[in-house]
Amino acid sequence: MAILFVTGVEDPATWVPALRARLPEARVYTEADAFDRREIEIAVVAAPRAGALRDLPGLRLVQSLWMGVDGLVADPTVPRGVPIARMVDPEMTSQMPEAALAHVLHLHRLHDVYARQQREREWRQWPQPLAGRRGVGVLGLGQLGARTAAVLAAAGFRVHGFSRSPKRIDGVETHTVLAASEILVNLLPLTAGTRGLLDAPRLAWLPHGACVVNLGRGEHIVDADLLAALDAGRLRHAVLDVFDQEPLPPDHPYWTHPAVTVMPHVAAQSTPESCLPVVAENVRRLAAGEALLHLVDRDSGY
Ligand code: NDP
Repeated sequence: MAILFVTGVEDPATWVPALRARLPEARVYTEADAFDRREIEIAVVAAPRAGALRDLPGLRLVQSLWMGVDGLVADPTVPRGVPIARMVDPEMTSQMPEAALAHVLHLHRLHDVYARQQREREWRQWPQPLAGRRGVGVLGLGQLGARTAAVLAAAGFRVHGFSRSPKRIDGVETHTVLAASEILVNLLPLTAGTRGLLDAPRLAWLPHGACVVNLGRGEHIVDADLLAALDAGRLRHAVLDVFDQEPLPPDHPYWTHPAVTVMPHVAAQSTPESCLPVVAENVRRLAAGEALLHLVDRDSGY
């Protein structure tokens, strides 16, 4: 079986030796190798550039090393008949709630406010409500959002969650989300239905002084609308882990905005140790003609 490893971001030097060690019977190529494109049956990819998978007539599976597959789903050169499997691995599903909890606690305890005060040498104390009086919203209750909502509820927050289909998660209310979210955590996938979801009218539903934590995709937020709400003081702070354009361009206003924390897309990271067992299991299933894990629904986009 021949595998093509294609990455737009991850380092092949980390992944390819690990892939070869995990699948010793497979021929693993990178785009830099000399190989016959007709021989490739599986593409193992991490945010590949659009068009990288064209002209692979024997392709039977696109296996993503990333959980978010919006780029792949949107790439018209990925043949419609070829299944796309995304990554769902135990480390990332544990890392994400940890990242969300860190950001939510930081905002809940007003650390952003005190950091700004420190820069001004201002000694001023604010009332500190308990977590049980703090409404936190989680957009998206999938692999990452459901775990995150449960961890935030276990930490004592009043958690509200939002998904397409109804969900039951202990301690999580799933009706009114935006109006109840003093801190809003976005963990939606990027699809036609969620692109630009956080625009001026929806941001206006958040309580005055609310904070936004975007861990989904940059395109979920209309940047100009978020900046306008922060500049007007309607929203207090935004923690942004993902951006329309990554790396974030040096002249982007987010870098220097006093009410924005920029994180370089690090909330949950793919590692060979955690991801490659999932890849190997799907390769085995493909060879055995068994049902594949974590298939993406091309129509819904996630
Ligand atoms: P899942 O596919 O498991 O879950 C998606 C959730 O979003 C589901 O609950 C789904 O509803 C809900 N949803 C989808 N579309 C809509 C809609 N139009 N309206 C309301 N709810 C909707 O995704 P994951 O939890 O695995 O991942 C979520 C995203 O996190 C990824 O797509 C990726 O963009 C991002 N991510 C970010 C990382 C980072 O480091 N910052 C790392 C990894 C992922 P339903 O349950 O009804 O289907």
